[in-house]
Amino acid sequence: MGRIGTTMNEFELIAQYFTRPARSGGSLRLGVGDDCALLDVPAGETLAISTDMLVEGRHFFEGSDPEALGHKALAVNLSDLAAMGAQPLGFSLALALPAADAGWLAGFAHGLFALADAHGAQLIGGDTTRGPLNICITVYGSLPADVALRRDAARPGDEVWVSGTLGDARLGLEALQGKRLLDRTLLRPASARLHRPEPRVGLGLALRGIAHAAIDVSDGLMGDLGHILERSRVGAVIDADALPCGEALSTQEVALRREFALNGGDDYELCFTAAPDQAAAVQAAAQASGVRVTRVGNIVAGNALKVTDGDGQMLDIAGHSFDHFSG
Ligand code: ADP
Ligand code: MG
Repeated sequence: MGRIGTTMNEFELIAQYFTRPARSGGSLRLGVGDDCALLDVPAGETLAISTDMLVEGRHFFEGSDPEALGHKALAVNLSDLAAMGAQPLGFSLALALPAADAGWLAGFAHGLFALADAHGAQLIGGDTTRGPLNICITVYGSLPADVALRRDAARPGDEVWVSGTLGDARLGLEALQGKRLLDRTLLRPASARLHRPEPRVGLGLALRGIAHAAIDVSDGLMGDLGHILERSRVGAVIDADALPCGEALSTQEVALRREFALNGGDDYELCFTAAPDQAAAVQAAAQASGVRVTRVGNIVAGNALKVTDGDGQMLDIAGHSFDHFSG
């Protein structure tokens, strides 16, 4: 164990933990170690770029498992590529570390590269400095520009779909914060959803040419779907009782199921819209990518987001998704 700038310097740290041999035949011409990385974009395609930062104490608990952090830091970024329908190419990593702790770095790199390899994303560069723990990743993907799943592409008449399940990450968070009692057999799956989100990259790719608009659910369905509605200048009606609840949330009472499925964050599922005549194609795309999808409502003209119960009765549930500047 050492400190950046003392026993292990920045360059040794990068060489030991974040430099791997470039894969031949891939899009990466030049990786970690030069002034810039050189990355090819497939002919006729456009770069898709997104950045997400994880700050200790804000996005994860102090003392969090470094392997899970490595996974999550990349997962939340790949989730943005998924929500655009982009194919991951590579990512860069800006890391502020309080100390060069070998055990921490090995665990972090393990979680990071396991997920990177699963999605064919290579680490192409970054920056490393001493400071309060802060993990900032930028992902680079590619896609034909005309199939991008943009937030402004929802149309009245579209159906609204959600992948996987919602709410368990929020339930796990509140249980770990001591705000809610949760049986140990439920805490395990719920905290797994919080700590190890699975970016729906395969589904995003499979939805190219099928879905209209998409977004990944990071702050809660109501807030995130709200972004699609705002950008597309449309409204929606959502059936709160049709929402697919996570394994742990499914065991809770109905008011909590609705609340966390609608407004829980950190699930990293995809919410997307597609024309009704694409329903079979949506199901086929889901099957091909190994993730379930559920139809949860409809896009309508106007600008209101309405929520009903399973009988179509209007529910008065205000959207209050997580906002970092609200408190
Ligand atoms: P510069 O002085 O140009 O900013 P650095 O000394 O910061 O370069 O980095 C040296 C090389 O190591 C660069 O190629 C950079 O992309 C890479 N690098 C630095 N930190 C990381 C990291 N955390 N992960 C991957 N590559 C990194
Ligand atoms: Mg630098």
